[in-house]
Amino acid sequence: MTDRYAVLGNPIGHSKSPAIHAAFAAQTRQDIRYEAILAPLDGFTQAVAAFAAAGGRGANVTVPFKEEAHRLATRLSPRAVRAGAVNTLTFSGEGIAGDNTDGAGLVADIESNLGFPLAGKRILLLGAGGAARGVVGPLLDTGAGHLTIANRTAAKARELAHLFVHHGNILGCGLPEIEGPFDAVINATAASLAGEAVPLPAGVFGPGALAYDMMYGQAETPFLAAARAAGATRLADGLGMLVEQAAEAFLLWRGIRPETAPVLAALRAQLARA
Ligand code: NDP
Repeated sequence: MTDRYAVLGNPIGHSKSPAIHAAFAAQTRQDIRYEAILAPLDGFTQAVAAFAAAGGRGANVTVPFKEEAHRLATRLSPRAVRAGAVNTLTFSGEGIAGDNTDGAGLVADIESNLGFPLAGKRILLLGAGGAARGVVGPLLDTGAGHLTIANRTAAKARELAHLFVHHGNILGCGLPEIEGPFDAVINATAASLAGEAVPLPAGVFGPGALAYDMMYGQAETPFLAAARAAGATRLADGLGMLVEQAAEAFLLWRGIRPETAPVLAALRAQLARA
């Protein structure tokens, strides 16, 4: 029988996850169906329960339900505990297992796909929302030399950094207090969604610095355009992170790791044609 999986979010119409998982399934010859489900803003728990009752084996969770999914899970992986958010649920007779694959996806994209090792590097993470929170632990696990978290609301950056003081060399601050230069600057704010660039002080990008925007789209994001103008020489958007976090979820569910490169290339080509 075909195993069913889904992504739940609101909005969900433009999700690329069904296409990504369909490509993984074809490549690995797994008999699965993966759909997108629009969950009502006040009805996430019921939507998950209905999908599981209908035979769903697992689900990805996206904006704005990752924290609710964290509360709903009956068992959490260590990385979900650290992230305080869940993007992957697995249903079984033993309950609902929650995991977070976003951080692993980001690190895989930067280190493996982009060939940019983070060990010893000075990293600036912009934003202190759900996406930023999910990647702090995995970024520190790379052996990064120093991680600065900077946010428009400075208190939130300081609080987030405080949660990880025992895991690495970390500092939280407001945007005007940023002190560069950095080897990698990762934008985990929603500013690009609003068509805005994050205001950054001069001297943020060191020589050969990587500018990485978790947001992706057809056109260069405002953050990447500003980074290019400020001298960053390596630029990347978050499409690779999306594919890598999906591969990590696929591995959890099916016990097999798909090849991500052909799927990412196909998505990139599709985006260019759109
Ligand atoms: P949240 O709403 O949880 O957090 C938003 C963050 O952005 C906050 O830190 C907020 O600051 C900041 N922010 C919003 N607008 C601006 C602005 N105009 N200037 C400066 N800072 C701003 O969102 P998420 O963390 O869930 O998502 C953030 C981004 O990451 C989105 O673009 C999302 O699409 C992307 N993402 C990509 C993924 C991928 O796989 N590629 C995975 C997950 C997320 P403040 O606290 O001051 O309000």
